[in-house]
Amino acid sequence: MQKLIQGLHHFQTTIFGSQRELFERLAQGQSPEVLFITCSDSRINPNLITQTEPGELFILRNAGNIVPPYGAGQGGEAATIEFAVAGLGVKDIIVCGHSHCGAMKGLLEPPSSRDFPALTQWLSHAESTRRIVRDKYAGREGASLINVTIQENVLAQMENLRTHPVVASGLAQGKLKLHGWVYKIETGQVFGYDPESSQFRTLTEQRSLRPMPERKLVALEI
Ligand SMILES: [Zn+2]
Repeated sequence: MQKLIQGLHHFQTTIFGSQRELFERLAQGQSPEVLFITCSDSRINPNLITQTEPGELFILRNAGNIVPPYGAGQGGEAATIEFAVAGLGVKDIIVCGHSHCGAMKGLLEPPSSRDFPALTQWLSHAESTRRIVRDKYAGREGASLINVTIQENVLAQMENLRTHPVVASGLAQGKLKLHGWVYKIETGQVFGYDPESSQFRTLTEQRSLRPMPERKLVALEI
């Protein structure tokens, strides 16, 4: 804790003054354009990897970057998503998984439900990930299995996102875009899901950032 107290002191005496204007402006209100959903893992710093300032990312974090489907329980996730989209008008939502995710390891090798009842219950929101991985990647094991689990989970949670009414409405109006990312801790790379190739590819390698296809309907009378 002593390190944190020293950090507070350093921030207030050295950093704050150099960015006073920014903080005074932020005191008037926030207008982030991105909702960034990622894991609670201490090794991820969303502002650092995207080089963004306070006020630019609305961040939702939990174990495993999980988005419970709309109506599943009374967690804070639905409220956070609702406020970000309908209240703040974010234009993009990113679900960002990461390498070496403990929650994904826990999904493959469940912890004792007696010792971790809340975690066991929470990971049930990623049950579709577990089942997809079990059925689709039967030959894989170890690091390779965790690697595909992390990727499949990002896609599964993006599907869950679509069940939230504000997200469904934003997509239908073309006002909102969804993106799936995976952050690789050991290299600093960020891979984005490319719907055209159905692969996660480094974002710097993709010529343009392709979001998940919108929910498109040109409604003719039929
Ligand atoms: Zn994690």
